Amino acid sequence: MIYLDHNATAPILPAAAEAVRSALAIVGNASSVHRAGRGMRRVIEDAREVVAALVGGKASGVVFTSGGTEANNLALGGVERARVLVSAIEHPSVLGARLDAETVRVGRDGVVDLDALRRQLAAGARPALVSLMLANNETGVIQPVREAAEIAHEFGALVHCDAVQAVGRMPVDMCALGVDMLSMSSHKIGGPPGVGALVLADGVEIRPLIQGGGQERRRRAGTENAPGIAGFGAAAAALPRETATLSALRDGLERDLTAAVPLARIFGVHAPRLPNTTCIAMPGVQSETQVMAFDLEGFAVSAGAACSSGKVEASHVLRAMGVGEAEARTAIRVSLGWQTTADDVARFVEAWTRLYRRLGLPSVGSAA
Ligand code: PLP
Repeated sequence: MIYLDHNATAPILPAAAEAVRSALAIVGNASSVHRAGRGMRRVIEDAREVVAALVGGKASGVVFTSGGTEANNLALGGVERARVLVSAIEHPSVLGARLDAETVRVGRDGVVDLDALRRQLAAGARPALVSLMLANNETGVIQPVREAAEIAHEFGALVHCDAVQAVGRMPVDMCALGVDMLSMSSHKIGGPPGVGALVLADGVEIRPLIQGGGQERRRRAGTENAPGIAGFGAAAAALPRETATLSALRDGLERDLTAAVPLARIFGVHAPRLPNTTCIAMPGVQSETQVMAFDLEGFAVSAGAACSSGKVEASHVLRAMGVGEAEARTAIRVSLGWQTTADDVARFVEAWTRLYRRLGLPSVGSAA
């Protein structure tokens, strides 16, 4: 299997797996005052330091959660703000966290419209929260978070950034971005699944969503997932920092694929993007058909957003970018990782081209 679905989940890094195993061998609840408890507390606090440092935050601001989804829900549900503004291309865990949220449009390149954000903020007097992702999970398009935060702060709004896909794939510094809260997820960076963090800037207060215990400075009740947190910390420490190889591989993939089939369309290609992600439409071939055909050929890719409910819908991200429903249904996401080789990419381009020649409709779609 050639695994090209790193945005869904990344393979666990050996150092992270080892840290999980070591933490599982420790007996003790981090809330206990005895030596065993203190041992487990040390594991968690060491990981907290590393996770905070990875995004330029402070350890005291890190709230460990069960993943990116919970971190996003905590950010949007845990602050007292009467208005919430989110971009139209946010992950469902942001879009679903506050059903009364107003959406801010994106342009055809998949980048949020900052003028629209300013107009919307100016149109309401109530205290607002703005939530904008750093990089989109489907297209990899990077958002102007620093600029959005400046605008939001002019209007007295708080700013949350879902950096789940960006962490580990581009430099992330929450101070430089000027955000008040930032979400991360362990399994996207080579740590175990089921653990993540919401990192709060100094002075930002949140109300816990999960009640019934004083853990995480009273911001998230429940015994901490110490082995998961240890693995998250180890992944944060072991992450490869260099991304030039990844972007060279991704650019080569797009170049060879569009040279073979000029009608292939790459979404967000003119915007700044994560180095590992490409979202490609194969004219006339449904995403699910492609995903199954590639699976049979030994490639793991995904149909736009991974479908958690078993039902694949046209991507809301592509629809927000003005892509028609029919074309959006022909898009797949290919996301590379540290193990991906030039040979993997060459084989994928060959398989993609073969499939297109077998099933594709050259008259459908456009190369625009
Ligand atoms: N935010 C983004 C942008 C994501 O891509 C994902 C996962 O796909 C999440 C949040 C949710 O993270 P988790 O799987 O840790 O709940």
